[in-house]
Amino acid sequence: MSNDVCFWDHWTKELKGSIISKAKKFYKLKLVSYVGDNTWIVEPIKDYNTRTYEVTNKKDDEDIRSFECNCQGFQSKLRKFKLRQSDEEAYCSHTVAVKMFAGNEAHNKAVERKMKEEEGVWI
Ligand SMILES: [Zn+2]
Repeated sequence: MSNDVCFWDHWTKELKGSIISKAKKFYKLKLVSYVGDNTWIVEPIKDYNTRTYEVTNKKDDEDIRSFECNCQGFQSKLRKFKLRQSDEEAYCSHTVAVKMFAGNEAHNKAVERKMKEEEGVWI
């Protein structure tokens, strides 16, 4: 548990502003919903994107690395990671948004802290 929080804390620090900013929008606009069977859908932000993406948690645990998304960004990161062209774990704004939605209190605090730190760049 504490390892997971540490990882999450570390990981949110590594996140690019654009990803977390988008994730925050999905989360705040309540575009994430749980549809059952460890699957969430992330609806599009009006006037910004048009597709609905599906995020699944195959391992049924809280680690962000267990979440998978069917969007192009995630899939290309995942491919690179599997081919060892990149050592960066795959993530995208959708998996981050779902993690915020599904995350426990400790995780959410880490995210909130990160958000406050960078409030200036998040419009
Ligand atoms: Zn995605």
